Amino acid sequence: MSLGPAAFLGLGAIGAPMAARLARGARLTVWNRTRTRAEAFARAHGVRSAATPRGAAEGAGVVVACLPTSREVDALLGGPDGLLAGLATGTLFIDCTSGDPAGSRRIAARVAERGVAYADAPVSGGTNGAEAGTLTIMVGADEPTFDRARPVLALMGSRIVHVGPIGAGDALKAVNNALLALNILAVGEGLATLVKAGVSARTALDVINGSSGRSFVSETLVPERVLTGAWPRTFRLALLEKDVGIARELVRETGVDAPLLDLTSELFGRARTALGESADYLEAIRLIESQAGVEIRG
Ligand code: NDP
Repeated sequence: MSLGPAAFLGLGAIGAPMAARLARGARLTVWNRTRTRAEAFARAHGVRSAATPRGAAEGAGVVVACLPTSREVDALLGGPDGLLAGLATGTLFIDCTSGDPAGSRRIAARVAERGVAYADAPVSGGTNGAEAGTLTIMVGADEPTFDRARPVLALMGSRIVHVGPIGAGDALKAVNNALLALNILAVGEGLATLVKAGVSARTALDVINGSSGRSFVSETLVPERVLTGAWPRTFRLALLEKDVGIARELVRETGVDAPLLDLTSELFGRARTALGESADYLEAIRLIESQAGVEIRG
């Protein structure tokens, strides 16, 4: 079944494989800030590329965006070549950016003025999950909008969950990623300590992963990326730092006492400063290694 004309904006590390899945079920037009990336994608996948957000949105019944933060999505809306100028009344706008709840509510209000329905739909599962179409997608929307978004999202993910009103998807995604960030630091610190104490990292993980200290970080990420020394770049540390910042803001708004999330946000802020904008999220462990003077390999 084809969804008809659709647009995808933002062909980054995760946006590109998501758009490739969408192209299988819709007549797709893509837009990307760096135009050459959109053109190369269009050639590779037999879809159209547009020169402007407006051009991408024109004629599309569904528009999907996946940009770094809500700020960039908001900035895409205005101006003569902006998204709003191309969105027809009745269009569905699905924002797969890991945004912030207030940002999503602001964007939803702006597009609603043109009769456009909005859902925040951040994703989890990494670039591998995006390639395989097995992402978990957490959706913030009203019920009718969720019902419209579901078949579109089902082309990109295998677990599509309606988690609440607009902004709820962002809130859940931010807390999920704050837990991931906290875990990365905890596993890194624990392994650096054990290696210094004379236990090999491989042996330590074998035992931890059969015991109560295990997690996705210890079972999958560290064995595949750190022990091997592969350190692939799939998700920028800067984006994870942004997610922890959103979670911290949520903690502040809700008045919950959350010293662990505060500290995680601070430590990832420092890691971003030390490692720069293109470092991968797991490279936070490199900082722990270098402070401890050990390598976690095996
Ligand atoms: P990347 O940094 O790889 O790509 C960012 C994309 O946004 C690129 O297409 C870039 O265009 C575009 N962009 C950046 N700034 C602007 C701007 N000012 N105006 C217009 N376009 C802009 O990010 P990802 O694809 O990794 O992440 C996208 C979103 O998905 C983020 O919110 C991230 O947190 C989330 N996410 C990422 C995951 C991952 O594994 N990578 C996993 C789950 C969620 P250009 O090509 O011109 O640079």
